[in-house]
Amino acid sequence: MAKKLGLPAQMAIGMVLGIIAGAVGPSMGIDTSWFKPLGDLFLTLIRMVVVPLVFTTLIAGAASVADVKELGRVATKTLVYYLVTTTVAVIIGLILANFLRPGMGLALSTENLQVKDVAAPPLIKVLLDIVPLNPIDALASGNMLQIIFFAILFGFALSALGERGKPAFQFFDACAEVMIKVTTIVMKYAPIGVFGLMAVTVSSHGLSVLLPLIKLVAVMYLASFIQIMVVYMPCAKFAGHGPLDFLKGLSEPLMIAFSTCSSAAALSANLLSVQKMGASKSVSSFSIPLGNTINMDGAAIYMGVAAIFAADVYGIPMPIDKQLTVILLAVLASIGSMGVPGAALIMITMVFTQVGIPLEAIALIAGVDRVLDMARTPINVLGDATGALFVTQLEKNAGHQIS
Ligand code: ASP
Repeated sequence: MAKKLGLPAQMAIGMVLGIIAGAVGPSMGIDTSWFKPLGDLFLTLIRMVVVPLVFTTLIAGAASVADVKELGRVATKTLVYYLVTTTVAVIIGLILANFLRPGMGLALSTENLQVKDVAAPPLIKVLLDIVPLNPIDALASGNMLQIIFFAILFGFALSALGERGKPAFQFFDACAEVMIKVTTIVMKYAPIGVFGLMAVTVSSHGLSVLLPLIKLVAVMYLASFIQIMVVYMPCAKFAGHGPLDFLKGLSEPLMIAFSTCSSAAALSANLLSVQKMGASKSVSSFSIPLGNTINMDGAAIYMGVAAIFAADVYGIPMPIDKQLTVILLAVLASIGSMGVPGAALIMITMVFTQVGIPLEAIALIAGVDRVLDMARTPINVLGDATGALFVTQLEKNAGHQIS
């Protein structure tokens, strides 16, 4: 009997069939909007799992780090790694876009546009808002940063309780496993969902949408490639993985990320893959669910590239102080993005308003957002995986016993 095809292969088939259906369907009189519910169902399923998945895996992950001191150490290293790599990512995006100017030649006027109609909230408010007034409300409304804040605090307290906390730990640990299983079940539908998403994307944003923005897409992919080469490869090497071994080990989460454009969909595959590659269980079960939301290097690259692109299109000067603002806000916006398709396109409002770019630019980019998302989601996932391997190695080199 033929061997059953694995999920990545099934998803690749779904994607190719979706592209074909989207490209030739309309000329054969097939209404491609019929395919839309297939993709919409998949997106809803992903949104359904993301909150309980991140919440339970993060509590279990934080509480599974043996002691509070270790948790503090692992958390600090992980957060520093996330912050540095995300900042580098925006800078790579900015530098490349400054050199290659993907928006030049697409001049649009800002004359009739209201630039500053939406004010970005002040930084202090953004930071204060991370603390939930009511954790249940945060869960119900899907406020990821508030959920993460509470989950880490909860896991931290659980770990500090020692023996007394055991029953609660076992409960959340089991819930985390259940949610990973639920995600695995949902992912069985992914090949069909991906088919629907691709068919609709290709038929509604055909070549005519893509061509004028092809330089933007090319700069995004090039910047993503540079991020892999200058940031992830050296970190993976430090953790003892050569380039091929590194990418091969992560092929399943990468394929999921590329075809679904959702890093939440790739979370469980990412966790299992890095553990197979030697990442410590306690480090990865804390850092992967955490990074799933707060560490989005692909989104950060995209914000840098898109800001320069849009400023050029509308003829808005971008002196160095504005570009520094872009770096700060892109890091914050990528921290706040959820691991679902198109999340960064929404968060980019924060960056654009702050540097005076008209929000109409978002509509311009939206036409190719799916194609850009196919670059940034694998980078978002790769950033988390590399972090788990890197922090594990740091812990080992420092002589700490880790499970
Ligand atoms: N789609 C991305 C993810 O799931 C988020 C984004 O960059 O829009 O990681």
